[in-house]
Amino acid sequence: MVIPMYSNESEIKAAGALIRAGRVVVFPTETVYGLGANALDADAVAAIFATKGRPADNPLIVHLAGISQIGLVASEISSTAHRLLEEFAPGPLTVILPARADLPRVVTAGLDTVAVRVPAHPVAQALLRAAQVPVAAPSANRSGEPSPTTMEMARQSLGDRPALYLDGGPCAVGLESTVLSVIHDQIRILRPGAVTEADILALLPDVTVHSIASGVGLADPARDGGEDGSGGRGFAMDPARDGGGRVVPAGAESPGLRHRHYQPKAQVSLWETAGRVRTLLARSDRTNHTVMVISPVSMKPAIDQEISQAGGRVVVRSYVDLAEYARGLYAWFAEGDDAGVATIIAHLPARDGLGAALRDRLTRASGEA
Ligand code: AMP
Ligand code: MG
Repeated sequence: MVIPMYSNESEIKAAGALIRAGRVVVFPTETVYGLGANALDADAVAAIFATKGRPADNPLIVHLAGISQIGLVASEISSTAHRLLEEFAPGPLTVILPARADLPRVVTAGLDTVAVRVPAHPVAQALLRAAQVPVAAPSANRSGEPSPTTMEMARQSLGDRPALYLDGGPCAVGLESTVLSVIHDQIRILRPGAVTEADILALLPDVTVHSIASGVGLADPARDGGEDGSGGRGFAMDPARDGGGRVVPAGAESPGLRHRHYQPKAQVSLWETAGRVRTLLARSDRTNHTVMVISPVSMKPAIDQEISQAGGRVVVRSYVDLAEYARGLYAWFAEGDDAGVATIIAHLPARDGLGAALRDRLTRASGEA
């Protein structure tokens, strides 16, 4: 059994003092590890961008100890946004609000809106209380790489650039937070995450939810057309729902979504059918490099058969459910990069629940988004 090493109270206090002193620290959250600094200190926030090599036009999420701190960074909050945060905070939900005039615009990449989240991880909570200031934090990796879901992954990416690393064990969610823009009763999912469309509609049945385009309505990334008789049209957009909330497609409007993101060094290709895995294996170089296949446990017998027929160097990582896929995805990417894997053949799950977030990250990782 592996016992996770959690940072203790004195390390967390030291991290809080470093943040108040304008330094940058790595800390765990339930989504991914964050690279945090005092959101009210423009120089400290600039140091985050420098540490990551992050483009200045990609805004940061401000992390708060509780909803009661929202007034430190936002000028107002709508009743819809408030209800969402009351329900899902602390947790993997980020909401965009109008920014206070005195919030340094380096945080928001010049926008007059600010993204806020209350993380649930006990180490993040303890750090935010120790720091006593709002903490701006993107994921703790060099820009463009997949997010770290363990402290070791963050350290591999950022080395000795941050002043301190806090350890909270492997992240329970493993994918970045759901990001919502809320304007009156119109909600846009700018980034899908563990708080899903269905979760939002269950709480607020009368709102309209617009979903971002990535991983939805995609032109055929994962099927061999015709193989299953569908002509490869496996990705039809959800039709707008009748009765209660509606789900309609929306273009990406979140600045960060323009940037290359979530990509491991390996070429990522997506599959839905064993036949597609056969095709992708046949195209891969399994002599000079190892190929990684990610498969649901339910399809593993069929995939194992394809692999034994193809021959060569192939490893399989399998998952029982989407929560395990979300927790494992970035760690498998990192493991593949460490092992010199050149091709990752990753299963593209259905859109339900966490499937929307996984499809978004997978299509971006594959370069098909
Ligand atoms: P990261 O810090 O890498 O998890 O990314 C945070 C993401 O939140 C950014 O890439 C943006 O897409 C989104 N975001 C943060 N602030 C805003 C904002 N004010 N308006 C719209 N999207 C935002
Ligand atoms: Mg990131």
